[in-house]
Amino acid sequence: MSKSHRDLKIVVIGAGASGVACATKLLEYGFQNVLIVEAESRLGGRIHTIPFGENVIDLGAQWCHGEQDNIVYQLASQKDLLESTGPVYENYQCVRSNREVLPDNVANRLKAIVGDSLVSRQMELQHCSGSLGSYLTNKFYEMLRRPENADIDKVLANEFFDNYQKFENSVEASDSLEEVSGRGYLDYWECEGDILLNWKDKGFVELLRLLTRSRELETSSDLGVLEQRVLFNRAVKKILWNRNDSRVELQLSNGECCLADHVIVTVSLGVLKEQHLQMFDPQLPVAKQRAIQGLAFGTVNKIFVEFPEAFWPEDWTGFTLLWREEDLGDIRNTSRAWLEDVFGFYRVSYQPRVLAGWIINASGRHMESLDRNEVLAGCMYLFRRFLHWHIPDPVSFCTSAWYTNPNFRGSYSFRSMDTERLGTGAQDLAQPLTVVAMTPQSPARSRSRSRSLPQQSRCDRPIVQFAGEASSPHYYSTVHGAVEAGWREADRLADFYSLNDATAKSQL
Ligand SMILES: Cc1cc2nc3c(=O)[nH]c(=O)nc-3n(C[C@H](O)[C@H](O)[C@H](O)COP(=O)(O)OP(=O)(O)OC[C@H]3O[C@@H](n4cnc5c(N)ncnc54)[C@H](O)[C@@H]3O)c2cc1C
Repeated sequence: MSKSHRDLKIVVIGAGASGVACATKLLEYGFQNVLIVEAESRLGGRIHTIPFGENVIDLGAQWCHGEQDNIVYQLASQKDLLESTGPVYENYQCVRSNREVLPDNVANRLKAIVGDSLVSRQMELQHCSGSLGSYLTNKFYEMLRRPENADIDKVLANEFFDNYQKFENSVEASDSLEEVSGRGYLDYWECEGDILLNWKDKGFVELLRLLTRSRELETSSDLGVLEQRVLFNRAVKKILWNRNDSRVELQLSNGECCLADHVIVTVSLGVLKEQHLQMFDPQLPVAKQRAIQGLAFGTVNKIFVEFPEAFWPEDWTGFTLLWREEDLGDIRNTSRAWLEDVFGFYRVSYQPRVLAGWIINASGRHMESLDRNEVLAGCMYLFRRFLHWHIPDPVSFCTSAWYTNPNFRGSYSFRSMDTERLGTGAQDLAQPLTVVAMTPQSPARSRSRSRSLPQQSRCDRPIVQFAGEASSPHYYSTVHGAVEAGWREADRLADFYSLNDATAKSQL
């Protein structure tokens, strides 16, 4: 390898959390010819903070999930940027489609039943060969049959459990919990500590400021260390990775081409699923294709509604929508059927007049195709159908649309029954494409050259690498997983060129 590592051209595809983390880490290691190609006109990907109401909202990632072993927490807590959101998603009210509010004692007992199953889940799922859905259903009804729960109204319990499954689907991004692998669910490791830390009045975009060391990201005028290193509004259409010279050719949407020594792909699993057959030439190895097919990627969307004033009681942190079977006929098989999968609305930190709703599955994807006024009218129908107060007309309204955007094609990844059936996982997605090469000269080895020539041997040189949240073995579907995966691939290159942390620091 005649080139110094400083001159190697490295292209990172995608400027989401993973791409930004990877590129900034590569710069720290002293690689200087680093470029990000990004299809959107902004940094962040599924981190998307926008002004709304009295402050900002996050259309994608919103909370830092946990503290221990959480790279995002480690970065943000040094600057005191995070704050507990409190029990917003625990102390919610349960309201029925006849405007009845479940009494606290009933709601709390039903919440305790699903809460108890959370504890036993970790142990019991290890021996489960079925879906998370069948496990949770069996567990819920088994607990409901216990003598101490005999007095719980079964109709209410069904309504509650139906809603609870929608909530769990939003955690997984699954359409149905029957899709989710029971055992695969345990692949995800929850970081200890507070799992709902918000970014105060800043939004998740603050993480990008930390990574890039910039101040004014929202104006795109300051990309910090990435200044002049990001090509926006360019989608990579083709990755040609078996050229004779072992370089990788990228063809971009605007007709430009670029050659790179190393490429790091951080696009979402949704994009890979849709595009990998056309994108990679030659096609990806079978194990990689199996990972792309077997790992699952689903849609969750958010609905933000700003009211002129808060009409809900002080002590309400949010409310879930329990449909009575006899009322569902009012929307099923109508143009409002999608509303059945809006499962609740919750308060938003630093936004006293805003409620955030969540919608899952095919209904969430369908909502993206509707006219904005139709969506708002649907939400107002829900508010007025479920709540007994006068509901003022909203002053503004906004929804996310992660599925229809070709640069995402969904929200986040999970482990499905297909993942298990195909025996695949994050490690197969993360495996780099390599060519056989001679070991490169490390800076230390080069210095010793005048005295004696170092021994070189054959090795696998990574030329196309894969990062992104879905490639994280245990923190997939999160930003900390995405950042860690980006760093993992930067480290892989640094290891290949025998650069270490000390090298990184000396290059700063
Ligand atoms: C609604 C929602 C809520 C979430 N909530 C949380 C949360 O509270 N906490 C949490 O930790 N995580 C949350 N997540 C998950 C988190 O946002 C993601 O795991 C993380 O941001 C993914 O980062 P990434 O870099 O892997 O991918 P992405 O952010 O998708 O980045 C990939 C980038 O590649 C670009 N791209 C795509 N195709 C091309 C192409 N052909 N050429 C060039 N560029 C391309 C895209 O535009 C994008 O910018 C949430 C996600 C969603 C959608």
